[in-house]
Amino acid sequence: MLPILLSRNRCAACFRQFNKLEHLVEHMRVSYHSVHEPTCGICRKHCRSFESLREHLIGPLPKQECKNIFSIRGCKFCLAIFESSYALRVHQERCQLSGLNAGVLARLANLGIRDNLSMDNIGRARGSQVVALACKMVGGGIDGSLDVCARVCLIDENENIIFHTYVKPTIPVTNYRYETTGIRPEYLRDAMPLRQVQTKIHDFLCNGEPMWRIRPKGGRARILVGHGLDHDLDRLQIDYPSVMIRDTAKYPPLMKTSKLSNSLNYDIQTGIQDPYEDCVATMRLYTRMRSQNHRVEDYPLAADPQNRNNFAAWRQSELERMNPDQMLEISRSDYYCWCLDSN
Ligand SMILES: [Zn+2]
Ligand SMILES: [Zn+2]
Ligand SMILES: [Zn+2]
Ligand SMILES: [Zn+2]
Repeated sequence: MLPILLSRNRCAACFRQFNKLEHLVEHMRVSYHSVHEPTCGICRKHCRSFESLREHLIGPLPKQECKNIFSIRGCKFCLAIFESSYALRVHQERCQLSGLNAGVLARLANLGIRDNLSMDNIGRARGSQVVALACKMVGGGIDGSLDVCARVCLIDENENIIFHTYVKPTIPVTNYRYETTGIRPEYLRDAMPLRQVQTKIHDFLCNGEPMWRIRPKGGRARILVGHGLDHDLDRLQIDYPSVMIRDTAKYPPLMKTSKLSNSLNYDIQTGIQDPYEDCVATMRLYTRMRSQNHRVEDYPLAADPQNRNNFAAWRQSELERMNPDQMLEISRSDYYCWCLDSN
């Protein structure tokens, strides 16, 4: 068979090879490839997640040509490729710093920090509109398996603590989970009541905007960053619109596709943790994702009304006349890429 025929049925994004053109068209209709997918800086292959890009560049089972170049000029933190090993060194110092062990920073930041910091002075502040939230849960219920929020932290984009407090549980605590929470009964005895914590956080997030008017762009409400926020917000009994939520556990490029490796060097830590560390880790992950340098498109989402059914709108015969690059050109993302928050 001629190689040219083979490459005609090859997906321009993930490089999957199809026997028949109609199968490639079918693949393009459902895969929502886009410029927002993690992409190899060498061969331009699109991956579903940073984890699969890491496998492609580092292993297990890397693509050898890409691995060879990556090992000389590739950043092992953000997986970008640089012009020279010098350019890589300059970049990597900064990149590594932004992934610095959050535990060290927590201890630094905690010097001079009191729990139960007041949000009153920052409540209407301009500037950073992105905040990260994390909770620590203790156990309730007969077997102690029910998560009960006992500590909560909120930081701004510069990793300053906005709010950091113990929360008085509304039901009896049957397991303090001390090995991971470091929480003792006496810390919660006179802690802030849940109701008050809820109100403070909710008001701070909405920032004076009524809930029904909250919209992703141009409003005063804040973007909320976290890991597994559904659970945190559920335990705190806080309602917040999903358009304002950036959850590192639900962002497709950061989702784990297997248990082989960790996406971007941010491991869920073990041992006693301060929720501040979780806030810092997720905030850094968010700002790194937001700073991705992707091509700007007028209507970046497949779900944007202007693009609705961008593939369905085309007749099969029209699509079959396109080459793989042209098909990729009209394909749009099925998730909201966080780079879109930056413009
Ligand atoms: Zn593909
Ligand atoms: Zn993007
Ligand atoms: Zn590659
Ligand atoms: Zn990097």
